[in-house]
Amino acid sequence: MSNAAPAGFPGLGERLERVRGGIADACRAAGRDPEDTTLIVVTKFHPASLISALAELGVRDVGENRHQEAQEKAAELADLGLRWHYIGQLQTKKARQAARYAHAIHSIDRERLVDALATAEVTTPIDAFVQVNLTDDPGRGGAAPEDLERLAERVLETPTLRLRGLMAVAPLPEEEEAVSAFARLHGLAERLRRVAPEATAISAGMTHDYREAIAAGATHLRIGSAITGNRPAPE
Ligand SMILES: *Cc1c(COP(=O)(O)O)cnc(C)c1O
Repeated sequence: MSNAAPAGFPGLGERLERVRGGIADACRAAGRDPEDTTLIVVTKFHPASLISALAELGVRDVGENRHQEAQEKAAELADLGLRWHYIGQLQTKKARQAARYAHAIHSIDRERLVDALATAEVTTPIDAFVQVNLTDDPGRGGAAPEDLERLAERVLETPTLRLRGLMAVAPLPEEEEAVSAFARLHGLAERLRRVAPEATAISAGMTHDYREAIAAGATHLRIGSAITGNRPAPE
């Protein structure tokens, strides 16, 4: 595989390497094996050509947060063998369509969404993460922590889904330290393992807090702008 910067995206390879190095350092500091983490490069709002360039650099997992955009990119890049991670709010009526391209859905936040995904046509079960809300603001996305077990049990009963673990977005820095939010997430992950011992994954950590997330046990890092550069405005 060539390490030369793919045409049109100067600095992309260097930024990717810097983040990979940052992940390895944070894992070492936490006494963890970097192999136990999955880097998902969040490519929302960026063109499909950037995703091709990332694939040339060895990226296998990409994250998108809007259904139509994800659907189009996944169709255009179908032959790259990428794993598409859906990380945004998912409308119930779009769930079956998302199931066609999504390898993983990180935003399972309500029973109606699970019910919709139960009717999806899949060849292998979709990796499912229950998203929990770490803030007091219900508009922030994610299930309330008290709904965690019920939602997890619903996913466990659903053959089209494979429950992998939890997902969360840390509160904004001015609201709370990511460290204490991730500590709460760690506690919720323990609760989840009591009802689903195999659901050990934790999807957490973005550009500004992935080191703290790794320290708190995150396994799936969703990192965008540190790698892609600033996002273009959404269309
Ligand atoms: C955009 C997004 C990310 C990546 O954010 P960066 O700060 O660019 O790393 C991660 N998770 C979710 C849910 C997102 O919407």
